[in-house]
Amino acid sequence: MISVFGSANMDLVAYVAQAPKPGETITGRAFRTIPGGKGANQAIAAARAGGRVAFLGAVGDDAFGPGLRAALAGAGVDTRGVRTVPGPSGVAHIVVQDGGDNSIIVVPGANGALTGPSAEDAETIGRSRALLLQLELPMEAVVAAACLAGAVTGAVTGTEVILTPAPAVPLPAELLDAVGVIVPNEHEAAVLTGRDDPRDALEALLDLVPEVVVTLGARGALYGSRDGVRLHEPAVPVRAVDTTAAGDTFAGALAVARTEGLGPDGALRFASAAAALSVRREGASTSMPHRPEIDRLVRDRT
Ligand code: ATP
Repeated sequence: MISVFGSANMDLVAYVAQAPKPGETITGRAFRTIPGGKGANQAIAAARAGGRVAFLGAVGDDAFGPGLRAALAGAGVDTRGVRTVPGPSGVAHIVVQDGGDNSIIVVPGANGALTGPSAEDAETIGRSRALLLQLELPMEAVVAAACLAGAVTGAVTGTEVILTPAPAVPLPAELLDAVGVIVPNEHEAAVLTGRDDPRDALEALLDLVPEVVVTLGARGALYGSRDGVRLHEPAVPVRAVDTTAAGDTFAGALAVARTEGLGPDGALRFASAAAALSVRREGASTSMPHRPEIDRLVRDRT
Protein backbone atom coordinates (compact mmCIF):
# COMPACT_ATOMS: atom_id res chain seq x y z
CA MET A 1 0.00 0.00 0.00
CA ILE A 2 1.01 3.62 -0.60
CA SER A 3 0.09 6.43 1.79
CA VAL A 4 -0.07 10.03 0.67
CA PHE A 5 -0.04 12.61 3.46
CA GLY A 6 -0.71 15.90 1.73
CA SER A 7 -2.88 18.70 0.46
CA ALA A 8 -6.25 18.66 -1.22
CA ASN A 9 -7.36 21.86 -2.92
CA MET A 10 -10.28 22.75 -5.09
CA ASP A 11 -8.87 24.54 -8.14
CA LEU A 12 -11.18 27.39 -9.16
CA VAL A 13 -10.11 28.19 -12.68
CA ALA A 14 -11.29 31.26 -14.61
CA TYR A 15 -10.31 31.53 -18.29
CA VAL A 16 -9.93 35.13 -19.48
CA ALA A 17 -8.46 37.09 -22.40
CA GLN A 18 -6.28 39.09 -20.02
CA ALA A 19 -6.03 39.01 -16.21
CA PRO A 20 -7.72 42.01 -14.52
CA LYS A 21 -5.65 44.87 -13.15
CA PRO A 22 -6.20 45.94 -9.51
CA GLY A 23 -9.67 47.52 -9.21
CA GLU A 24 -10.79 46.24 -12.63
CA THR A 25 -13.76 43.89 -13.22
CA ILE A 26 -13.74 41.81 -16.39
CA THR A 27 -15.93 39.11 -17.88
CA GLY A 28 -14.36 35.67 -18.10
CA ARG A 29 -14.79 33.19 -20.93
CA ALA A 30 -15.21 30.01 -18.89
CA PHE A 31 -14.92 28.63 -15.37
CA ARG A 32 -14.11 25.17 -14.03
CA THR A 33 -13.79 23.67 -10.56
CA ILE A 34 -11.15 20.93 -10.65
CA PRO A 35 -10.09 18.85 -7.64
CA GLY A 36 -6.35 19.31 -7.12
CA GLY A 37 -3.62 19.98 -4.60
CA LYS A 38 -0.32 18.13 -4.93
CA GLY A 39 -1.25 15.51 -2.32
CA ALA A 40 -4.60 14.62 -3.86
CA ASN A 41 -3.07 14.70 -7.35
CA GLN A 42 -0.32 12.26 -6.40
CA ALA A 43 -2.83 9.97 -4.67
CA ILE A 44 -5.07 9.89 -7.74
CA ALA A 45 -2.09 9.38 -10.07
CA ALA A 46 -0.80 6.46 -7.98
CA ALA A 47 -4.23 4.83 -7.79
CA ARG A 48 -4.79 5.17 -11.54
CA ALA A 49 -1.31 3.71 -12.10
CA GLY A 50 -2.38 0.59 -10.25
CA GLY A 51 -1.40 1.29 -6.63
CA ARG A 52 -3.47 0.61 -3.53
CA VAL A 53 -3.51 4.12 -2.09
CA ALA A 54 -4.67 5.79 1.13
CA PHE A 55 -4.93 9.57 1.23
CA LEU A 56 -4.36 11.21 4.61
CA GLY A 57 -5.35 14.86 4.76
CA ALA A 58 -8.07 17.37 5.55
CA VAL A 59 -10.94 19.11 3.82
CA GLY A 60 -13.17 21.89 5.15
CA ASP A 61 -16.84 21.69 6.14
CA ASP A 62 -17.74 23.84 3.12
CA ALA A 63 -19.28 22.90 -0.21
CA PHE A 64 -15.89 21.84 -1.67
CA GLY A 65 -15.12 19.17 0.95
CA PRO A 66 -17.48 16.49 -0.42
CA GLY A 67 -16.29 17.17 -3.99
CA LEU A 68 -12.66 16.64 -2.99
CA ARG A 69 -13.51 13.40 -1.18
CA ALA A 70 -15.56 12.20 -4.14
CA ALA A 71 -12.73 12.86 -6.59
CA LEU A 72 -10.32 10.79 -4.52
CA ALA A 73 -12.82 8.00 -3.90
CA GLY A 74 -13.78 7.99 -7.58
CA ALA A 75 -10.18 7.17 -8.46
CA GLY A 76 -10.24 4.26 -6.00
CA VAL A 77 -8.29 6.05 -3.26
CA ASP A 78 -9.07 5.05 0.34
CA THR A 79 -10.41 8.26 1.94
CA ARG A 80 -10.98 6.98 5.48
CA GLY A 81 -8.00 9.08 6.60
CA VAL A 82 -9.50 12.34 5.30
CA ARG A 83 -10.81 14.48 8.14
CA THR A 84 -13.30 17.30 7.87
CA VAL A 85 -12.24 20.36 9.84
CA PRO A 86 -14.28 23.52 10.55
CA GLY A 87 -13.79 26.25 7.97
CA PRO A 88 -13.01 26.34 4.25
CA SER A 89 -11.26 23.65 2.20
CA GLY A 90 -7.97 24.50 0.54
CA VAL A 91 -8.51 26.37 -2.69
CA ALA A 92 -6.31 27.43 -5.58
CA HIS A 93 -7.76 30.46 -7.32
CA ILE A 94 -6.35 30.30 -10.85
CA VAL A 95 -6.67 32.83 -13.66
CA VAL A 96 -5.62 31.45 -17.04
CA GLN A 97 -5.02 34.09 -19.72
CA ASP A 98 -5.25 33.43 -23.43
CA GLY A 99 -1.83 32.12 -24.41
CA GLY A 100 -1.64 30.05 -21.23
CA ASP A 101 -0.09 32.42 -18.67
CA ASN A 102 -1.40 31.68 -15.16
CA SER A 103 -1.71 33.61 -11.96
CA ILE A 104 -2.51 31.50 -8.92
CA ILE A 105 -3.51 32.25 -5.32
CA VAL A 106 -3.42 29.22 -3.02
CA VAL A 107 -5.33 29.57 0.25
CA PRO A 108 -4.42 26.53 2.39
CA GLY A 109 -7.70 26.41 4.39
CA ALA A 110 -8.12 22.96 5.93
CA ASN A 111 -4.63 21.88 4.80
CA GLY A 112 -3.20 24.51 7.14
CA ALA A 113 -5.00 22.92 10.08
CA LEU A 114 -2.92 19.73 9.89
CA THR A 115 -0.16 19.59 12.48
CA GLY A 116 0.82 15.95 11.94
CA PRO A 117 -0.52 12.46 11.35
CA SER A 118 -3.25 11.19 13.70
CA ALA A 119 -2.90 7.85 15.51
CA GLU A 120 -4.92 6.21 12.72
CA ASP A 121 -2.70 7.85 10.09
CA ALA A 122 0.36 6.53 11.90
CA GLU A 123 -1.07 3.05 11.73
CA THR A 124 -1.81 3.41 8.00
CA ILE A 125 1.68 4.78 7.32
CA GLY A 126 3.18 1.87 9.27
CA ARG A 127 1.38 -0.60 6.98
CA SER A 128 2.53 1.19 3.80
CA ARG A 129 5.46 0.37 1.55
CA ALA A 130 5.81 4.04 0.62
CA LEU A 131 4.78 7.43 2.00
CA LEU A 132 4.43 10.25 -0.52
CA LEU A 133 4.98 13.76 0.82
CA GLN A 134 4.94 17.26 -0.70
CA LEU A 135 5.29 20.67 0.93
CA GLU A 136 1.77 22.10 0.69
CA LEU A 137 1.04 21.30 4.36
CA PRO A 138 2.58 23.06 7.37
CA MET A 139 6.24 21.97 7.56
CA GLU A 140 5.77 20.60 11.09
CA ALA A 141 3.12 18.21 9.78
CA VAL A 142 5.34 17.01 6.92
CA VAL A 143 8.29 16.51 9.27
CA ALA A 144 6.13 14.58 11.75
CA ALA A 145 4.87 12.23 9.03
CA ALA A 146 8.35 11.68 7.59
CA CYS A 147 9.87 10.98 10.99
CA LEU A 148 7.12 8.52 11.75
CA ALA A 149 7.83 6.56 8.55
CA GLY A 150 11.55 6.98 9.06
CA ALA A 151 11.25 5.57 12.57
CA VAL A 152 9.37 2.53 11.36
CA THR A 153 11.75 1.97 8.47
CA GLY A 154 14.63 0.28 10.21
CA ALA A 155 12.42 -1.44 12.71
CA VAL A 156 9.40 -3.07 11.18
CA THR A 157 7.88 -2.37 7.83
CA GLY A 158 10.24 -0.36 5.70
CA THR A 159 8.06 2.59 4.73
CA GLU A 160 10.01 4.46 2.07
CA VAL A 161 9.55 8.24 2.17
CA ILE A 162 9.31 9.85 -1.30
CA LEU A 163 9.36 13.66 -1.10
CA THR A 164 8.36 16.12 -3.80
CA PRO A 165 9.92 19.35 -2.45
CA ALA A 166 7.28 21.69 -3.87
CA PRO A 167 6.89 24.54 -3.26
CA ALA A 168 10.67 24.71 -2.78
CA VAL A 169 11.67 25.94 0.68
CA PRO A 170 14.70 25.13 2.84
CA LEU A 171 14.34 21.59 4.21
CA PRO A 172 14.94 20.82 7.90
CA ALA A 173 17.61 18.20 8.63
CA GLU A 174 15.16 15.89 10.43
CA LEU A 175 13.04 15.79 7.28
CA LEU A 176 16.01 15.02 5.04
CA ASP A 177 17.17 12.29 7.41
CA ALA A 178 13.87 10.46 6.95
CA VAL A 179 13.61 10.83 3.16
CA GLY A 180 14.60 7.91 0.92
CA VAL A 181 13.97 9.53 -2.46
CA ILE A 182 13.61 13.22 -3.30
CA VAL A 183 11.90 14.16 -6.59
CA PRO A 184 12.34 17.88 -7.38
CA ASN A 185 11.84 19.45 -10.78
CA GLU A 186 14.88 21.35 -12.05
CA HIS A 187 13.69 24.67 -10.62
CA GLU A 188 13.20 23.15 -7.16
CA ALA A 189 16.56 21.35 -7.40
CA ALA A 190 18.25 24.69 -8.16
CA VAL A 191 16.51 26.47 -5.26
CA LEU A 192 17.45 23.69 -2.82
CA THR A 193 21.10 23.49 -3.85
CA GLY A 194 22.01 26.83 -5.41
CA ARG A 195 23.19 24.90 -8.52
CA ASP A 196 21.54 25.78 -11.82
CA ASP A 197 22.84 22.74 -13.70
CA PRO A 198 20.47 19.88 -12.78
CA ARG A 199 23.33 17.32 -12.86
CA ASP A 200 25.26 19.39 -10.33
CA ALA A 201 22.12 19.86 -8.26
CA LEU A 202 21.54 16.10 -8.29
CA GLU A 203 25.04 15.46 -6.95
CA ALA A 204 24.52 18.07 -4.22
CA LEU A 205 21.19 16.51 -3.23
CA LEU A 206 22.86 13.09 -2.94
CA ASP A 207 24.79 14.52 0.00
CA LEU A 208 21.42 14.93 1.70
CA VAL A 209 19.32 11.90 0.66
CA PRO A 210 20.16 8.42 -0.69
CA GLU A 211 18.31 8.65 -4.02
CA VAL A 212 17.44 11.64 -6.21
CA VAL A 213 15.24 12.08 -9.27
CA VAL A 214 15.33 15.48 -10.98
CA THR A 215 12.54 15.93 -13.52
CA LEU A 216 13.38 18.04 -16.56
CA GLY A 217 9.99 18.50 -18.27
CA ALA A 218 10.20 17.59 -21.97
CA ARG A 219 13.87 16.69 -21.47
CA GLY A 220 13.00 13.74 -19.27
CA ALA A 221 14.42 12.90 -15.84
CA LEU A 222 17.77 12.29 -14.16
CA TYR A 223 18.34 9.65 -11.49
CA GLY A 224 21.20 9.22 -9.07
CA SER A 225 21.85 7.07 -6.04
CA ARG A 226 24.56 7.04 -3.42
CA ASP A 227 25.68 3.64 -4.64
CA GLY A 228 26.86 5.22 -7.87
CA VAL A 229 24.01 4.69 -10.33
CA ARG A 230 23.38 7.61 -12.72
CA LEU A 231 20.61 7.46 -15.33
CA HIS A 232 18.91 9.78 -17.81
CA GLU A 233 15.43 8.75 -18.93
CA PRO A 234 14.38 10.81 -21.97
CA ALA A 235 10.76 12.01 -22.01
CA VAL A 236 8.40 10.09 -24.25
CA PRO A 237 7.85 12.36 -27.28
CA VAL A 238 4.20 13.44 -27.28
CA ARG A 239 2.22 16.46 -28.41
CA ALA A 240 1.95 18.36 -25.13
CA VAL A 241 -1.50 19.87 -24.56
CA ASP A 242 -1.31 20.68 -20.83
CA THR A 243 1.62 19.87 -18.57
CA THR A 244 -0.28 20.68 -15.34
CA ALA A 245 0.47 17.97 -12.76
CA ALA A 246 2.96 16.13 -14.98
CA GLY A 247 5.27 16.11 -11.95
CA ASP A 248 2.56 14.74 -9.66
CA THR A 249 1.68 12.03 -12.17
CA PHE A 250 5.38 11.16 -12.39
CA ALA A 251 5.76 10.95 -8.58
CA GLY A 252 2.61 8.85 -8.10
CA ALA A 253 3.62 6.39 -10.81
CA LEU A 254 7.20 6.26 -9.53
CA ALA A 255 5.91 5.21 -6.10
CA VAL A 256 3.79 2.46 -7.65
CA ALA A 257 6.72 1.12 -9.66
CA ARG A 258 9.06 1.14 -6.67
CA THR A 259 6.57 -0.58 -4.38
CA GLU A 260 6.13 -3.24 -7.08
CA GLY A 261 9.86 -3.85 -6.87
CA LEU A 262 11.04 -2.30 -10.15
CA GLY A 263 14.65 -1.10 -10.19
CA PRO A 264 15.60 2.52 -10.93
CA ASP A 265 15.53 2.20 -14.72
CA GLY A 266 12.21 0.33 -14.85
CA ALA A 267 10.63 2.74 -12.36
CA LEU A 268 11.82 5.78 -14.35
CA ARG A 269 10.48 4.30 -17.57
CA PHE A 270 7.09 3.62 -15.99
CA ALA A 271 6.86 7.09 -14.40
CA SER A 272 7.93 8.84 -17.63
CA ALA A 273 5.30 6.94 -19.61
CA ALA A 274 2.57 7.90 -17.11
CA ALA A 275 3.66 11.57 -17.09
CA ALA A 276 3.84 11.74 -20.89
CA LEU A 277 0.32 10.34 -21.18
CA SER A 278 -0.90 13.00 -18.73
CA VAL A 279 0.51 15.91 -20.77
CA ARG A 280 -1.41 14.78 -23.85
CA ARG A 281 -4.69 15.72 -22.15
CA GLU A 282 -6.08 18.84 -20.43
CA GLY A 283 -6.37 19.24 -16.69
CA ALA A 284 -4.67 17.77 -13.63
CA SER A 285 -6.42 14.74 -12.13
CA THR A 286 -8.58 14.57 -15.24
CA SER A 287 -5.51 13.90 -17.40
CA MET A 288 -3.90 11.09 -15.41
CA PRO A 289 -3.62 7.76 -17.22
CA HIS A 290 -4.85 4.36 -16.07
CA ARG A 291 -2.56 1.36 -15.67
CA PRO A 292 -3.35 -0.42 -18.97
CA GLU A 293 -2.41 2.70 -21.00
CA ILE A 294 0.85 3.06 -19.09
CA ASP A 295 1.73 -0.62 -19.55
CA ARG A 296 0.95 -0.37 -23.27
CA LEU A 297 3.22 2.66 -23.73
CA VAL A 298 6.05 1.06 -21.73
CA ARG A 299 5.71 -2.10 -23.85
CA ASP A 300 5.72 -0.13 -27.11
CA ARG A 301 8.93 1.60 -26.12
CA THR A 302 10.90 -1.48 -25.07
P1 ATP B 1 4.12 20.27 -12.85
O1 ATP B 1 4.54 21.35 -11.89
O2 ATP B 1 3.47 20.78 -14.09
O3 ATP B 1 3.37 19.16 -12.20
P2 ATP B 1 6.86 19.60 -12.80
O4 ATP B 1 7.56 20.89 -13.12
O5 ATP B 1 6.83 19.17 -11.38
O6 ATP B 1 5.43 19.59 -13.41
P3 ATP B 1 8.25 18.41 -15.02
O7 ATP B 1 9.71 18.29 -14.82
O8 ATP B 1 7.75 19.51 -15.89
O9 ATP B 1 7.55 18.40 -13.59
O10 ATP B 1 7.68 17.05 -15.64
C1 ATP B 1 7.69 15.82 -14.93
C2 ATP B 1 7.89 14.69 -15.94
O11 ATP B 1 6.78 14.69 -16.85
C3 ATP B 1 9.13 14.80 -16.80
O12 ATP B 1 10.25 14.23 -16.15
C4 ATP B 1 8.71 14.01 -18.04
O13 ATP B 1 8.88 12.62 -17.82
C5 ATP B 1 7.21 14.31 -18.13
N1 ATP B 1 6.95 15.44 -19.06
C6 ATP B 1 6.83 16.75 -18.73
N2 ATP B 1 6.62 17.50 -19.83
C7 ATP B 1 6.61 16.63 -20.88
C8 ATP B 1 6.45 16.76 -22.29
N3 ATP B 1 6.25 17.96 -22.87
N4 ATP B 1 6.48 15.64 -23.03
C9 ATP B 1 6.67 14.42 -22.49
N5 ATP B 1 6.84 14.22 -21.17
C10 ATP B 1 6.80 15.31 -20.37
